Amino acid sequence: MTSSILTGFAIALATVFVMEGVAYTVHRYVMHGIGWSLHRSHHRPRSGPFEANDAFGLMFAALSLALILRSTWREWPYWIGIGMALYGLLYALLHDGLVHRRFPFVHAPRRGYLLRLIKAHHIHHAVRTREGAVSFGFLYAPPVEALAKRVRQRLRD
Ligand SMILES: [Zn+2]
Ligand SMILES: [Zn+2]
Repeated sequence: MTSSILTGFAIALATVFVMEGVAYTVHRYVMHGIGWSLHRSHHRPRSGPFEANDAFGLMFAALSLALILRSTWREWPYWIGIGMALYGLLYALLHDGLVHRRFPFVHAPRRGYLLRLIKAHHIHHAVRTREGAVSFGFLYAPPVEALAKRVRQRLRD
């Protein structure tokens, strides 16, 4: 039981942060591991509106929806579901919209966090194979120069 709606909001917000860690881990060890047959589509040019990799997003969306539908707002799983949905929204907006331009995204950042996020993710896509990629986060981007150096090194050897 959560005592108040405020506790709920706090759980949802914490979930958004935790989800970046979950997404990083899943991206690094599952998508670039046993799930590569699905994720590979995301490291190739897209031929239609969808790609096999979208299955991962749908799985997380289904989990989030199940948590929300199977509990009431007075229970913590509900707020974890809300946090997951929020993370999914940010992921869709920033990863699919801003970085990959899968839908018209008006804002074209010239500096700051958003530009760094775009650059860092393009560095992830510089490697088109299962192994050797860097920068697995979706909302957090490490400093771009360091990433670029690492990926250049890996592509060389
Ligand atoms: Zn990847
Ligand atoms: Zn991507």
